Amino acid sequence: MMPSGKERSVYLDGHATTPVDPETLDAMMPWWSSMATNAHSPHSFGQRGSLAVEAARTEVARLANVASSEIVFTSGATEANNIALLGVAGTTSPGTGGKSNIVVSAIEHKSILAAAEQLGHRGWEIRLAPVDHFGILDLSSFDRLVDDGTFLVSVMLANNEVGSVQPIDDVISICRDHGAMVHADAAQAVGKIPVSLSELDFASISSHKMYGPVGVGALFVSAAAALRPRPLIFGGGQESGLRPGTLPVPLIVGFGTAANSRTRFLDADALHVEELRDRLLKQLQSRQVRFCVNGHESFRLPGSISLEMYDITAMELIMRLGDRVLVAEGSACSSGNIEQSHVLKAMNIPSDRAERCVRMMVTRHLTADDIDYAAEHIALATGAARQ
Ligand code: PMP
Repeated sequence: MMPSGKERSVYLDGHATTPVDPETLDAMMPWWSSMATNAHSPHSFGQRGSLAVEAARTEVARLANVASSEIVFTSGATEANNIALLGVAGTTSPGTGGKSNIVVSAIEHKSILAAAEQLGHRGWEIRLAPVDHFGILDLSSFDRLVDDGTFLVSVMLANNEVGSVQPIDDVISICRDHGAMVHADAAQAVGKIPVSLSELDFASISSHKMYGPVGVGALFVSAAAALRPRPLIFGGGQESGLRPGTLPVPLIVGFGTAANSRTRFLDADALHVEELRDRLLKQLQSRQVRFCVNGHESFRLPGSISLEMYDITAMELIMRLGDRVLVAEGSACSSGNIEQSHVLKAMNIPSDRAERCVRMMVTRHLTADDIDYAAEHIALATGAARQ
């Protein structure tokens, strides 16, 4: 629960971003002022900064179950996704070695879809892999789409609108059969469910989806990958030249602290947010709110809910709730546009139903009391819509 003026606000938009833990904020603070430094400076402050960056890299790598030498810091998952697609494809040209197509799932984040579109303009054939009505990759279609001409595949570990968790082990094994490299956008999964990225070639991580600060993330580049991406920008050679630019030490320290906390509390938090999610659903039902749940009951991020409301559009609900309860429609990254969510469309949900879909994610700081408050206000808002 976060205080907001007189009234309380319950933030249920954990897919969009997660609040920074107080211990993470504390760890970052000195690096903005009394310990401010450039991690590449030769003096003692610089060395201290460089040690802090390496300690954070170790924490992020531990959470993702990979080696710290395989972690490249970026500004977030958008940048990591762009390097993974444009940087990997940039090492060759379409058709070389018989590789001419790239497969991405239809429910990827816009930073994958838009990067893939760019590669389409550069001569790559882009194939969109469909999902079922739960928002889970249709493996038999995927198996048909991936062939010996597939250069790279990108499938997210977990979706940011409906929380569906994808069958990544099957994806990897299909790709290996055809000599295709595999990237996973793990932005929503890392820090929320146990993951091991080590079997992938590349993966993207975002700090602000796991209770760390916004503006930092990482690309995992496996030491075993057949090739290393080309940099998209050029400069002072930081991050082995793959992502040059002065390292944001305070953000990286925050990211590392958040990763350490996720390693310690992941299981307990998953149980806590699942209990609260179930409580929210029960409370809404007992208050006669009319809805159905989108997405899969089991293959889903803990605490994530996508609801199709029967009596109110998502935008109307968001407006009525004001700052009492914060929920989202479609994807926050494309909000502002009236365009229908490509994820719900891929799940075959028609636009009149999609506009009544609300996405929520319970975060670890919330309490049962917060959830009861949220349910009460959602019920009031939807009840008012029926009159
Ligand atoms: N991928 C997914 C699945 C996401 O949910 C997001 C954030 N909405 C991103 C990528 C982009 O991450 P960032 O904000 O770190 O650039």
